[in-house]
Amino acid sequence: MADDEFFLQSVRRGTAWAHPEYNHTVHAEVGGLLPGREYYYRFRTGSWISETGRTRTAPAATAAAAPSLTFAAVSCQAYHDGYFTAHRHLAEDDVDVVFHLGDYLYEYAVNSAGGARQYTDRQVPELFNREARTLEEYRLRYALYKSDPDLRAVHAAHPFVVTWDDHETENNCADAVDEEGNPPEEFPLRRAAAYRAYWENQPLRGAQLPQGPDLRLFRRLQWGTLAQFDVLDTRQYRSDQAYGDMPHVPGPESDDPARTITGAAQERWLIDGWRASYALWNVLPQQVRFSQHKLDPTPEALVSMDTWDGYRASRERVLAGAKSAGIQNLMVLAGDAHVGYAFDIKEVFDEPASRTLGTEFVTTSVSSGRDGAERPLTWDTYTKANPHLKFYDGRRGYVRVELGHEAARADFRTVSAVTTPGAPIATAASFVTEAGRPGLEPA
Ligand code: FE
Ligand code: CA
Repeated sequence: MADDEFFLQSVRRGTAWAHPEYNHTVHAEVGGLLPGREYYYRFRTGSWISETGRTRTAPAATAAAAPSLTFAAVSCQAYHDGYFTAHRHLAEDDVDVVFHLGDYLYEYAVNSAGGARQYTDRQVPELFNREARTLEEYRLRYALYKSDPDLRAVHAAHPFVVTWDDHETENNCADAVDEEGNPPEEFPLRRAAAYRAYWENQPLRGAQLPQGPDLRLFRRLQWGTLAQFDVLDTRQYRSDQAYGDMPHVPGPESDDPARTITGAAQERWLIDGWRASYALWNVLPQQVRFSQHKLDPTPEALVSMDTWDGYRASRERVLAGAKSAGIQNLMVLAGDAHVGYAFDIKEVFDEPASRTLGTEFVTTSVSSGRDGAERPLTWDTYTKANPHLKFYDGRRGYVRVELGHEAARADFRTVSAVTTPGAPIATAASFVTEAGRPGLEPA
């Protein structure tokens, strides 16, 4: 590691074994760095020297005068749905850290043309043309994704904080229940393989090495006293989706207070952490949409059973915890939807005049769902059914958020296409929310 990208002044160096049982990955945990600093790093094995990566350390947790923080949120990068053009632009954007909110990869088959990428100059090997289920298959999947030059560029440019959603393991999985209804003793074997490959290939520490099918991913990060980030895992401990996983009107099955999307231990950890928080912004990077999202404007409207709408008692407990902890400025981040949304989080979602408790930014996909449209066909319906929905855009891209001492600003960044490489990026919309006054205003 060095202070400068030319490695004139080396600050730390060390040797790590790339053990075959971890598929020759290494997890270098570098101590003794200064807070609030930019560093460069690279690896050498034999005569081979890696590309150079840039990272940065957070300000000290007690730093009262922490500088403002700019982060990006990304999710859902299906290789077979298109190019990671949004990552190429994000690599050139000026952010301190990137939060990856899940669906880093998809278990689905990738054909020899790379799906929507329609390669003519190369072939994706045949072994990717089936769903990943084994440790070897999940490992190879990371290898395929990390061969993408845009993904490599964004990792080299910025530090990443990762959490997963379902597709790193299997579509719509919940705790020990898989999508296909296999016996519950079978899925943990697959989950253990997926979690092991995830740990090997992501910036996680040795202490997070999974124990069989268990990996503790939820964790807390601070940016001085400006922001606290409670990174959640809403997949590993959740109750199985109600009503067979399809959109449904909330009812006794989904609203059963015994059901949970976080698990009891993580829920306690979150609320206890909020009680101890002295941060100006309390940010919740997590997987799935938090705010109510009715699919039509009728009283019997369907909602997704895979998001917090399918776990309303869980959501009520978390919001009650935020209120009783008296935290300042709640901001929820989500992915998974493959479209961009901005929401005011309401005390009572069905009462537009009720108090606004915070804001939610749902980042669109990097590529999943292919090109997408600026105004999806459901735009009028969703906007009418959800008055607290402030923005809805169906294109690919990412969200960039700047947290300041007076206000936060969010920019929804979109690319016009991902099925062809090299599309330009633009800001589709920008919002501000003032510290101490929850609610979004157009910037
Ligand atoms: Fe996804
Ligand atoms: Ca997902």
